Amino acid sequence: AKTHRRGGYEYFTRSMGVEIRERVLLMHALRAAFEHERLFLVYQPQVDMRTGKILGAEALLRWKTDEGKFIPPDQFIPIAEYSGLIVDIGEWVLRSACHELVTLRELGYIDFQMAINVSQAQFSHPLFMQTLHRALEETQAPPEFVELEITESMAMKDPELLIKTLHQIKQLGVSISIDDFGTGFSSLSHLQKLDIDKLKIDRAFVNDIQQDGNEGSIAKMIVQLGQNLGLSIIAEGVENQMQADTLMSYGCHLAQGYFYARPIAKAELHEWLKNRSA
Ligand code: C2E
Ligand code: CA
Ligand code: CA
Ligand code: CA
Repeated sequence: AKTHRRGGYEYFTRSMGVEIRERVLLMHALRAAFEHERLFLVYQPQVDMRTGKILGAEALLRWKTDEGKFIPPDQFIPIAEYSGLIVDIGEWVLRSACHELVTLRELGYIDFQMAINVSQAQFSHPLFMQTLHRALEETQAPPEFVELEITESMAMKDPELLIKTLHQIKQLGVSISIDDFGTGFSSLSHLQKLDIDKLKIDRAFVNDIQQDGNEGSIAKMIVQLGQNLGLSIIAEGVENQMQADTLMSYGCHLAQGYFYARPIAKAELHEWLKNRSA
């Protein structure tokens, strides 16, 4: 039994070693990519499903390696978080997205809202408010057109700090959206205490919307919850007309998803907006 156990242990550490080595390699590669400006943002339009009118876009981070390979954010964001790199990368994301917002305003899109993802490590960093303030000031981005997306799980970690930070963000004029809503387990009373503006229905629940039998769907419950709390609601991952129609029948009118537009590069976004307004 002893040898058996030791064998298991060795196997375990060996496979874990590979995993850690891979993570460390990826971390170094990410740091180098960031320094060599291999990270960039794409923008996924958000629309009003009733009119097709564009509200704004969510900025999404991309990493293209020197070999031309794309590494998905689901793979590198956790590493950026874990290594602390997210603080610098996140600051760069904030500035770049604010800068793009200003560019769009200069092009005449003065109602455009920019949604920017903020991760846990970034948000709880003691200098976060200062960073946000500086990004707005240096880019001259109007805070009323900037929205930060934080996740529900973050909302659960340190309630006191969260309430305080959200309040400060609000005072700057920036709005807050709860991303991936429904995947964490926020209590209603907790949610009610927070200075938030919007709930973003997670893609998984939009994906669950089927042809029939939607009465008990989670998406529907989230829309009702948002309405009861006086929040706006946006659905992510809308891929077809049926989902759009169903969401609208629930009272959710804002959406983001491949059915309307994929995340696109800056230049494409400008084209997209031009064609839309023409
Ligand atoms: P998220 O914030 O939930 O972003 C939405 C994700 O859903 C994006 O994936 C987007 O491309 C994808 N998506 C949108 N519409 C559809 C659709 O109709 N169908 C399908 N199948 N997918 C759709 P992406 O760009 O791969 O980003 C993944 C996650 O990485 C994001 O999830 C977010 O958590 C994180 N992330 C991306 N950019 C940043 C960033 O700048 N900072 C931070 N902290 N996290 C980021
Ligand atoms: Ca998001
Ligand atoms: Ca989301
Ligand atoms: Ca999501």
